[in-house]
Amino acid sequence: MTAQCADLTGLMFATDTDTVDVARRLCSRCRFATRCLVLALVHDERAGVWGGFDAHQRNQIIRTIKARTKETT
Ligand code: SF4
Repeated sequence: MTAQCADLTGLMFATDTDTVDVARRLCSRCRFATRCLVLALVHDERAGVWGGFDAHQRNQIIRTIKARTKETT
């Protein structure tokens, strides 16, 4: 089994909007997407598309988790 992005590092770390959208669509067909996103969040990946989420979106997820954690403590 191979990830959809194997050998496409340039695509997954592109910064222009159109190419990031292409990367997201690739992730949407990837069987590893959930695991990939979780690993990116755990390792605080700051660049690239992981599990279909770009760095900005991952930051939003982390902020939401932190806010909700703060609410419950
Ligand atoms: S979900 Fe992860 S492993 Fe799958 S194509 Fe996207 S970046 Fe690659």
